[in-house]
Amino acid sequence: MKQSYSFIYFFLVFVHSLSAQINSLPDFGSPADAIMTVSQEERLGRSVFAQILNSGSINENPIVDEYINSLGKNMGVYAQDGEFNFRFFVIDNDEVNAFALPGGYIGIHSALIRLTEEENELAGVVAHEIAHVTQRHISRTYLAQQENTIFALATMLAGAILASASNSSDAAAGAMMAGTAAMQQGQINFTRAMETDADRVGVQILYKSGFNPLGMPTMFEKLSRISSANRSIIPEFLQTHPVNVNRIAETRSRANEMRGDYAESTENYLIVRAILEFESFELPDEARSYFESNLRMSGNNQKDLYGIILSLLALNEPDLANLYLSDLVSMSSNLIAITDLQARVMSENGQTDEAIALLANNLSLSPRNKTLTLQLAELYIKKSKPELAHDILLDLFNIEMPTPNNIRTLANYAYQMGSSSLSRYYLAEYAISTGQLLNAKIQLESVLEEEDLDISDRDKYQARLDQVIEALGQS
Ligand SMILES: [Zn+2]
Repeated sequence: MKQSYSFIYFFLVFVHSLSAQINSLPDFGSPADAIMTVSQEERLGRSVFAQILNSGSINENPIVDEYINSLGKNMGVYAQDGEFNFRFFVIDNDEVNAFALPGGYIGIHSALIRLTEEENELAGVVAHEIAHVTQRHISRTYLAQQENTIFALATMLAGAILASASNSSDAAAGAMMAGTAAMQQGQINFTRAMETDADRVGVQILYKSGFNPLGMPTMFEKLSRISSANRSIIPEFLQTHPVNVNRIAETRSRANEMRGDYAESTENYLIVRAILEFESFELPDEARSYFESNLRMSGNNQKDLYGIILSLLALNEPDLANLYLSDLVSMSSNLIAITDLQARVMSENGQTDEAIALLANNLSLSPRNKTLTLQLAELYIKKSKPELAHDILLDLFNIEMPTPNNIRTLANYAYQMGSSSLSRYYLAEYAISTGQLLNAKIQLESVLEEEDLDISDRDKYQARLDQVIEALGQS
């Protein structure tokens, strides 16, 4: 096995999730410094993001993640000159909401995406959140809180987000505790002036990015309708971004002044909606009925075809999935999300070798693409080739930071390869990435007790153990 893998990204995971906990208290400067600097914002946002990621609330489907990042980053280009490094993510949550964290970390709830009917509506919300970041509204809301440490702020913010995001997850208990305090002071509540400003700037970003700027007022109207139809349900988005009739009218008249030819919703947007709709059902049977009835009502369309194929795969009906797939392929471009689905359908129909060839061929055109690589790894496992699965994942993580779940998958693959020391080393990395340092220490110590470790591995594991012990000493 190759020994030359770069573990820098594991180290980054370590730094991301722990730096806020183990480093000395941040210097917020004197109260006269008015607002946070961009780099302070970045540290705060990164720490909150790491906590949300470690809690498992973020949708890790690579198709969803790649889509929201490509949409947001393309729009971000029209909003600023590189001051903020945006990171977008989808949170699995039935509350309709979107929020911007300090430093350009922007979260969109899956329920909000499901509520949209056109891509420009989703883009309208994204543009509005981007504007909150670039207009520095977020740093301004921290004016009165300069005595707080970045970590305390990060914990409060993550707590507030997770408390509202999770009803049952493990994260809930800890988050509720932190969340109570956060509800009182940590949550970002923008002023009316900031909201108007975010609308004004956001609608320009929307327009410059090639979307119909009317998407923003249309979406706000949709949100208002939910709350007026049922006064006890006010979408969270409206709680943190209060919208009123005047604001919607003002945004609409601004958007109406802008003229242009606007593109239709992209295929990837439709596919992402299909995935999120599918994931929102408890049972694949329910999902199947939903997509079937949509197809009956509106005829063949990419969203509902994609959704019904996902449902049929979950129901173990690959023949039927294959029939729908040919309809979908005939109306789609050569998208990664389509290739991924094709490979899954082929493999479920007993053509795993052909599916592997299809993925490998597409990966040569899009090297280290996350969606294709993860799918290929799964098919290698199906063919009892854990070494190949392990190696392509590790190669992917040279360019892409693995999530805690990705690291756990590596541990599983290493275990299937019969390498218990490597597997336990990954479990230690998993523990580090989720902040369980004591657990990581125990794993690493037990790995180091093994006698047949090769020298470079032993050195690497020992160095890692030293870092963990140092971090434990400081916490
Ligand atoms: Zn807002």
